[in-house]
Amino acid sequence: MSSETLSGSVATDIDVSDAARTVLELDGIEKRFGDTPVIRDLSLTVRDGELLTLLGPSGCGKTTTLRLIAGLERPDGGIVHLEEDPVSGTEFVAPENRDVGVVFQEFALFPHLSARENIAFGIDEWPDEERDARVEELLELVGLREHGDKQPGELSGGQQQRVALARSLAPEPSLLLLDEPFSNLDVDLRVEMREEVREILKKTGVTAISVTHDQEEAMSISDRVAVMSEGRIEQVGTPEEVFQQPTSRFVAGFLGHASFVAGHVGADCVESGVGCVPLERVNGLSDEYRGSEIDLMVRPDDVRAHTAEPAEANGKVVHRRYLGPTVLYRVELDTGDVVGCMHNHADEIRLGDSVFVSLDADHDLAWFPRGERKMADGGR
Ligand code: ATP
Repeated sequence: MSSETLSGSVATDIDVSDAARTVLELDGIEKRFGDTPVIRDLSLTVRDGELLTLLGPSGCGKTTTLRLIAGLERPDGGIVHLEEDPVSGTEFVAPENRDVGVVFQEFALFPHLSARENIAFGIDEWPDEERDARVEELLELVGLREHGDKQPGELSGGQQQRVALARSLAPEPSLLLLDEPFSNLDVDLRVEMREEVREILKKTGVTAISVTHDQEEAMSISDRVAVMSEGRIEQVGTPEEVFQQPTSRFVAGFLGHASFVAGHVGADCVESGVGCVPLERVNGLSDEYRGSEIDLMVRPDDVRAHTAEPAEANGKVVHRRYLGPTVLYRVELDTGDVVGCMHNHADEIRLGDSVFVSLDADHDLAWFPRGERKMADGGR
């Protein structure tokens, strides 16, 4: 579906600023199942019109957080505020009274109802005329005006997802929750649908929280991403912030194959296994670190390997993974560090080749003090 087919009736892209109203606030949320803590001291604020994604490995507590917001679970500690009212904690507001919509993984459409009837389901008590107008508006918004009479079995996966989205948007919830919304779609459709879903959400201006373990999905649809690990939020920021300026090794490793290269902070540069990196290229490295040992974070597209005579080389290829358009090499540097290098598929560096690896990044590098070295090196 192209953008031209989306309804223009509510067509303004929302600029989420710090001044926007707070729609959801989680304050020190704790949740245990039996004796096992699953959510630990989790605090988060989501602003009006924002699309925030909870991103993290399987089992880190994303779905539980969503269920706590929806009222499908009760927290053991902390308070959930919706539109500034406490809904869990000091008192408990039932899910049906929270003004929260949920789009489930499996869409959960009624198979015997048409798309139109599915969308109308949640606004059954609305006056007929208003309800019918709202359903038509939503069919138009999700590009299904021609398909309103079809039952889910007669619609494609992507069309079913659009019906599910329209149904959840129908009652104009103040917050929409999307639980792994693309996991039931095949890979090509997933990429197409995430762009469409973002566009639809932005057109309606609804505040939304989605959940995924797919970092590319989180990066591509979100205004902000909250990276979770073991029931905690590790970092919240724009996709660019969490990717380029990770504040922990876990976040660095989870978002795209980070390698860590040992470096000594000299007078003008950081001396490392990939050469001397000028101090001004190391993000926020203050004077107090002069003379100390740090680890520079490099991603596979930050470095390049060239075959070289052993005497000229600074490393050796220890692993080669062909990925179609690209080849991912793992190079063991003479210093003992191992870095990933992403090359075009036409490159013909072989396993075992001596190579010279150099830095090829056009952005400042993130780094971590050496003392943190024992922290989770890479999330996967
Ligand atoms: P995934 O990406 O695999 O869906 P997730 O990050 O959404 O994972 P949750 O489903 O929130 O993780 O689960 C967090 C932890 O809580 C897991 O260890 C899970 O086994 C556990 N858990 C979830 N629900 C329950 C429950 N009802 N009873 C007991 N343990 C549970």
